[in-house]
Amino acid sequence: MITLRGLTKRHGDTVAVDGLTLDIEEGRVTGFLGPNGAGKSTTMRMILGLDRPTAGRALIDGKPYASLRHPVREVGSLLDAKALHPGRSARSHLVAQARSNGIPVRRVDEVLATVGLAEVARRRAGAFSLGMYQRLGIAGALLGDPKVLILDEPVNGLDPDGVRWVRELVRAQAAQGRTVFLSSHLMSEMQLTADRLVVIGRGRLLADTPMAELLAASASASVRVRTADPDDLRGLADRLLVHDGVSVEPARPPGGGAGERNEIVVRGLTAGEIGDLVHRLGVRLHQLHSVCASLEQPYMELTEHSVEYATRTAKV
Ligand code: ADP
Repeated sequence: MITLRGLTKRHGDTVAVDGLTLDIEEGRVTGFLGPNGAGKSTTMRMILGLDRPTAGRALIDGKPYASLRHPVREVGSLLDAKALHPGRSARSHLVAQARSNGIPVRRVDEVLATVGLAEVARRRAGAFSLGMYQRLGIAGALLGDPKVLILDEPVNGLDPDGVRWVRELVRAQAAQGRTVFLSSHLMSEMQLTADRLVVIGRGRLLADTPMAELLAASASASVRVRTADPDDLRGLADRLLVHDGVSVEPARPPGGGAGERNEIVVRGLTAGEIGDLVHRLGVRLHQLHSVCASLEQPYMELTEHSVEYATRTAKV
């Protein structure tokens, strides 16, 4: 578990991180989101003892990173995949890391196999692609078999197969009871990977919430309702519209055009609330299902006042 209490970092007049208080718990993947310059890297650096907080604390299982007895065996991290000597091979880089941390060298070959670099392990890292660097960085994070993983943009530069591999890896790590804290700018990937989300903007906490709750509360979340009899639909729609903030529109097929006459899309109510109403009205249903919102929409709404380099959408 990672605990942040009033965590703050100032660089002169710039407040990079502003009083963050939250718990990042074990057994789940916590996604860390925020626009460029929001303070994500600075937060991770403070957790890892690389930046000293101006105020507040960052603790790993109750202790500051600097007082951990075997840091690499307790926390695995990937902050900058390219931060290694380009003349070294992947294997010698990891062997040096293992030796200096009291980790048996056979573990190096294990993690190289885990990340799919066994065949290129003796090649100069300087000739690696960004995706290979990322895999090597992840190997380094896994080396000490740590209980806590902190990964900054781990899927950056990976191909779709690599992105999926990272997703499955971190989900498996969390399922084993480890704490996984990772950032990514890929919203769709974060939606598939994280159980919980922490969103910051201009150093401040904007949201700390289960992914499912954020998506369900989003204005873009909707429920598709199909009745057995088209005549029932009008009465149902009228009853739904009695509720504040509810909208109803005819369902359209994905390619556009007219949809079924007995199908509508409802926003502002959950499938459960609609199901209860349908039951009270005695309407026969043929379909009732929630359409998963995309993370992009609630993320944009949360951070709209926090972006450093705002662009205006051109009118067409
Ligand atoms: P993110 O990782 O979310 O993009 P950062 O943590 O890198 O954000 O940066 C947060 C803010 O702090 C930015 O405005 C950045 O310019 C500033 N900052 C980060 N490190 C330093 C530093 N060493 N000196 C001065 N300002 C810094």
